[in-house]
Amino acid sequence: MQKLYTNATLVDKDEPQEILIDNGKFTAIGPHLAVEAAETVDLNGRLVVPPYVDPHIHLDYVYTAMRQGALNGTGTLFEGIQRWSETKAGATVEEVKERARRAVREEMLQGVQYIRTHADVTDPSMTSLKALLELKEELKDILTIQIVSFPQEGMYAYPNGAELVEEGLKMGADCVGGIPHYELAREFGEKSVHKAVELAVKYDKLIDLHCDETDDDQSRFLELLTALTYMEGIGDRTTASHTCSFGSANGAYAFRLMKTLIKAKLNFISCPTENIYLEGRQDTYPKRRGLTRVKELNDAGINVCFAQDSIADPWYPLGNGNLMNVLDNGIHICQMMSFPEIDHALDLITTHGAVTMHIQDEYGLDAGKPANFIVLDADSPYEAVRCRTGVLRSVRYGKELFVREPAPVKTDLAILQA
Ligand SMILES: [Zn+2]
Repeated sequence: MQKLYTNATLVDKDEPQEILIDNGKFTAIGPHLAVEAAETVDLNGRLVVPPYVDPHIHLDYVYTAMRQGALNGTGTLFEGIQRWSETKAGATVEEVKERARRAVREEMLQGVQYIRTHADVTDPSMTSLKALLELKEELKDILTIQIVSFPQEGMYAYPNGAELVEEGLKMGADCVGGIPHYELAREFGEKSVHKAVELAVKYDKLIDLHCDETDDDQSRFLELLTALTYMEGIGDRTTASHTCSFGSANGAYAFRLMKTLIKAKLNFISCPTENIYLEGRQDTYPKRRGLTRVKELNDAGINVCFAQDSIADPWYPLGNGNLMNVLDNGIHICQMMSFPEIDHALDLITTHGAVTMHIQDEYGLDAGKPANFIVLDADSPYEAVRCRTGVLRSVRYGKELFVREPAPVKTDLAILQA
């Protein structure tokens, strides 16, 4: 059945657009389609963009921040890992799924339709991975989930960590994970990067490493990851998450590495709310921001995107899956607020995330692709970002996942009326 959305505002289009959908796919998008559809929806000039993408979250950790023993007193990444390690035993598949489902609901109700989640596999029972694989299958018609086989406690710092990562890939994880800066010595960190690349090639999987999530400018696993994936020709299938130390690297080093990053076509994920909170903890003043060089990467044409990372876990006490909030924080912290940057800021939580997830073929507002999109309560990208606007509608394969009416306001005051 054909469905037509009229009066849609699209990024970089001057006149209102019409969107025609048939059989779950976009069939045409243009200013005057001159078609009679069985159903027509007037969007009143609201902004239509592809769905939000959250390319980095830990769905197995959500809502555990308040658990007994999970409280992270220092607010550092390393105490977060310790608290998780001490409290993760005893979880069941059902319990993990229940929490993950709640987080998915929060994210989806704010326009997210694509999620890459890490699953902690430094646990011989593989509880997290089993839970998230089941959830992925259950939700596949309404939400795209990719899963990273992620050794939270290290490939080598944890007994048989590398074997557990491989086991996770065999069980069905989509991406190889790693955490080289957490291994017990630099050599083991390097070994884990080599192992991740070897596994990605062996099983034909994507790579997403927690890489250099520290202010230590001597943590330079990004360099090795870039070189190895470039030489294997899989740089565009590889993601470096966090890379906080690259924000502390000296200019000469960054200048040289930037050239290789461009050649390798590596993808970057920055988690602004978490890393502004977790990093800089050993600094007095001046205190570093702890984020990677998002602005410089973006200016160089390197694919970089933002992600939520945490919802109320031992690393970060807040978080609610609102990518607009993540974006707002990110563009402030990274000083990306020239008018052209604001006009294209939504790319950081939409198209750039899709490139990172390597799903460009099925993502975007193009004829022939699945009719997945969201409608924002704004009439331009600038207004959407300025007002941190909410999502009015989320559409998946041409069907409404939800429709939200703007809340009415009661007032007699003329100045408060539109
Ligand atoms: Zn993470």
